Parts: sequence; structure tokens; C-alpha cells
Amino acid sequence: MAEQEYDLIVVGSGAGALLGAIRAQEQGLKTLVVEKTDLFGGTSALSGGGIWIPVNYDQQNAGVKDDLETAFSYMKRCVRGMASDDRVLAYVETANKMAEYLRQIGIPYRAMARYADYYPHIEGSKPGGRTMDPMDFNAAKLGLDALETMRPGLPSTQIFGRMSMNAFEAHSMLSREFKSRFSLVGIMLKYFLDYPWRGKTRRDRRMTGGQALVAGLLTAANKAGVEMWRNAPFKELMQDASGRVTGAIVEKHGQRTEIKARRGVMLGAGGFERNQQMRDQYLNKPTKAEWTATPVGGNEGDAHRAGQTVGAQLHLMDWSWGVPTMDVPMEPAFRGIFVERSLPGCMVVNAKGQRFLDESGPYPEFQQAMLAEEAKGNGGVPAWIVFDASFRAQNPMGPLMPGSAVPDSKLHKNWLNNVYWKGETLDDLAAQIGVDAAGLKDSARRMTEYAKTGKDLDFDRGGNVFDRYYGDPRLKNPNLGPIEKGPFYAMRLWPGEIGTKGGLLTDREGRVLNTEGQIIEGLYCVGNNSASVMGPAYAGAGSTLGPAMTFAFRAVADLVGKP
Ligand code: FAD
Repeated sequence: MAEQEYDLIVVGSGAGALLGAIRAQEQGLKTLVVEKTDLFGGTSALSGGGIWIPVNYDQQNAGVKDDLETAFSYMKRCVRGMASDDRVLAYVETANKMAEYLRQIGIPYRAMARYADYYPHIEGSKPGGRTMDPMDFNAAKLGLDALETMRPGLPSTQIFGRMSMNAFEAHSMLSREFKSRFSLVGIMLKYFLDYPWRGKTRRDRRMTGGQALVAGLLTAANKAGVEMWRNAPFKELMQDASGRVTGAIVEKHGQRTEIKARRGVMLGAGGFERNQQMRDQYLNKPTKAEWTATPVGGNEGDAHRAGQTVGAQLHLMDWSWGVPTMDVPMEPAFRGIFVERSLPGCMVVNAKGQRFLDESGPYPEFQQAMLAEEAKGNGGVPAWIVFDASFRAQNPMGPLMPGSAVPDSKLHKNWLNNVYWKGETLDDLAAQIGVDAAGLKDSARRMTEYAKTGKDLDFDRGGNVFDRYYGDPRLKNPNLGPIEKGPFYAMRLWPGEIGTKGGLLTDREGRVLNTEGQIIEGLYCVGNNSASVMGPAYAGAGSTLGPAMTFAFRAVADLVGKP
């Protein structure tokens, strides 16, 4: 067994892990990153790259007023006692420092003035400004060779599966703002006219969202001199007689390699959503690894189990960052349905054809409602998203582009009765998807009525600022539209997630605690490998990446002894 030595070993290459590695190397620690798969970036590279940063440096530009006390009280209420005040406070106090650091290493962000916190009814929430979106990143800065080692973005989040758009542009297009036509033309022109770059790679030079974030981090890591290994799965932790973590065993070129860590090991190996056995053990049922939206072969809870072996305490293991997902053949993972469910003219029903939730509400609560509906015996798994011909013509839904651009006749032949179902009448559709017809017709009738009055008397859809972010602002209620004109469509939704949120419990510095609540010396944990500081909640868009990087930032400060 070969032996090597570093100051810090970082396991995984998601956003938290990379930020920790860069910061540590810059602070003088010789740092090694080990990544299990053949690509760096994990789920972070597929993500929107949004970070939830209360009291951030760009809020003033966005015209938003915020303060630490209000942010703390909001977050404390969100976490419902499932994360300590100490950690919540550490997050609120440090998040902006971390964001400033990102800017300093070449990854500036902009505050999204109109993207509301997810729980507008909770005191201290803001109607916008705490979520930040990364500025565009030029892939040439990373370089073509390094780009090849980075996980590419999801074609489903790009225009025609190729061209990047940022969160502002996506919102503008989905809200059908007039200016979005110009930005769409601009994006396409820029892409097609960039002959020099396109001659080298199909990947867009202009990187946005999680691609911008991870490309920026990889660029900074290379510049700082962090050593990074791919195809190098971490296997076990090494400890000395006192219980201090002293290194890790990593498989390199198929060989178990002992690597010593003079100062510590930082685990950032993501969640356990790709491990069916762990899902069965911990998550609410039914649960399937295939429903998840994260990369295949990555997050299988390896470092959760290694942490347990050295006595780490696990927390929040039955929680995930839930989102309804769809199975689209040929796509590498199930597709998260974040936005379309909020658009006016669609509804979600159970096997009885009844609505059971506010379709435009936060996605983690959406997934929980599906599971609860299933548990009640009403058939919430799968649930069905149903819409009519008018909706189909104007809006995207999962892989279906608006019918006005891509009519049914141009869709993949094998998608019918597989990705989408279609019936001339609601009775016809109900029979095809095995949903109660009377219930379905009644739900559509009610939704059509609510669209006229602008008030959803069942679930108050569109009744708050978060719901209304994605909708049609020209309507009385941006989230409500009629469902009355055949043919009718249905698509299947599964209770998936964008990662699990239970893991190794840490203190305010990201130090792992044992089952007695004592620090395991030399062991740090960040991101979905650790128990989330958000507890059961999703305070606002960016609630996973923000904390992952913030606690990595704090962990390095602890490692080098600088507050
Ligand atoms: P990952 O980014 O998944 O990284 C973990 C890495 O560890 C992987 O590369 C994995 O291969 C590696 N690994 C696993 N086991 C081992 C091992 N044994 N040895 C070595 N390496 C190992 N969150 C937000 O906050 N904002 C957003 O805008 C957002 N948008 C999203 C959009 C989509 C479509 C999706 C799918 C997710 C989104 N998320 C978002 C969620 C977010 O991407 C994840 O929660 C986050 O990336 C998790 O970061 P992580 O570092 O913990 O894990």
C-alpha cells in the first residue's frame, strides 16, 4: 500500500469541497482533492448555482434591506429546532464573508431582487434579494483540457440543449416578458457567431449557474495549486490511538493508497441518494434511487458510512432536498420539475383525480405532500400533472417545448404513453392514466373556476410572493389558468430529490461530532455529506450550496486557527 502525505485531504469535488480546498491551499496547507467519478463537480455542476446569502454585498444594488437579526430569526423559525442556534448564527454571520471570498477568487454573484424566500408566511422572510445568481463565466479561463474533466451541465437547462442562460434570463422567458425575445436572440447569436470556440468544443463558452460556479472554482483551484485526482474513490478514514483522524484510504489506479493528513480530512462526498439500501434504511417510503436528479455513480453515502465507523453522529437522515422529478428516456438522471408546475393552466392530482397541494409552492414541500398523499392511501406516487391544449401550446412542461414551437407531431414517437399521455376528453385521459375520471373532471372544473375569480379556494395557489415568482404576471392570479380545452395531457411525477440532507452532525466550524457530542479531532464535513444547517427546511433558493461553501470556509478558518 503506497503512502503519501498532505496537510488536508478533501473528499469529493462539489462546491463546498472545492471552496474548502482552494481556501486551505491559499492559507498554506498542502491540499489534495479526491473525486470518485471521472468528472469533477458533482451535483453542484448540474445545479442552478444559486446561493442563499442573507445580508449580502449586492442587496443594496438590488434595493433590498436586510439585517442579521431578521435573517437569524427567519432561519431559526425555518429550522424548527432541528439545527442548533449556534450553527444557524454561524451561517448567517459568515455567508456573506464566503460570498465576498467567492468574488475575490473570480466568482462574483448578483442578488436576485425578485426571488422570494420560500416561506413568505414566516416572520423575517424577504420578498427577494437573499438568493444570489453567479455572473457568467468564460470557459476559456478554465481552459479546454480542464473543461473536459468537469461534469457538463444538463441539456435540459440549456436552450436547445446547448446554449446557457442565467436565472434572470430564464425567469424573464418563462414570465413571457417582452424583453426576453431580445435576450433569446442575443444568446443564440453569441453562441453561433463564436466560431473560434465552437470549432474546439460543443460546450458553450458562456457558463452560467452551477457550471459558472464550478468552472470558477476549478479555475481557482488550479491557480492555487490544489492537487486533484479523479477516479479516486475514498474508502476509509485513518485514526490514531487517541481517535484523531490522521488520513484516508483512497483507491488510486485500482490500488488502495494510504494518504496521511497532517491537519485533517474534510468530507464533502455529497448525499446518499444513489444508494438504494441507505434510502430503504433512512428515507420515507416509497423511495427509489432512480427518482433522484443527481449524477449516477456518485453520491452513495460512502463517506457517511466511513464517518459512522469512526463514531460520528448522524442527524436528519430521513430528510432530503425534495423535488418532483420526471423520467425522460435518454436523459442521464430523472429531471427535476422546479418551475413549470407553477405556470397557470396546469394542476397536479392523485389517483383519485383530486388536487392535494399548492402546485406553485416550494419543491421540498411538494415532494413531502406526494409521500403524505401516498401514505393516506390516495395514490400520490406517482402524481400526475395535467394540462389542456391551451397550456400545451404556450408553455414548456418537462421535455415538451411549447406546442407552438414543437407540436405533438414533432415530439419523439416513443414519448407518447411513456413521457406524456393525451386524451381528447378528460374521461379519455383519466382512463389512460388510471385516475378516477369524476375526480379529475371536478378538479379541472374547480381550477377553471378559480382562474376566473383569481382565488384558489382549495390550496391558495398564487396567494403569496413565492408562488408568484414563476407565473404569468398579466393574469389576475399569475398561477391560475383554466383547464377546459381538449385535447388534455398528463405527465407522471415522482417524489425525487436534488440530494439528501442528512449526514454527519457538525458544530459551527464544520467539525464532526461523535455520538456523545464531542469533536472528532481532524475531521470536518460539508455539503450534503453533513446534516444540514437548514434542518427540515429550504429557507430560500441556494439553501444547499450556500451552507456547503460557508461551512467549508469556516472549517478552513478553524484549521489554520484564523477566525
Ligand atoms: P455534490 O456536488 O454532489 O458533490 C459530491 C461529490 O463527491 C461528487 O462529485 C461525488 O462523485 C463525490 N463522491 C461521492 N462519493 C465519493 C467517494 N467515496 N470518494 C470521492 N468522491 C466521492 N442547490 C442550491 O443551493 N442552489 C441551486 O441553484 C441548486 N440548483 C439545483 C439544480 C439541479 C438541477 C439539481 C440537480 C440540484 C440543484 N441544487 C441546488 C442542489 C445542489 O446541487 C446540491 O445539493 C449540491 O450540489 C450538493 O453539493 P455537495 O458538494 O454536497 O455534493
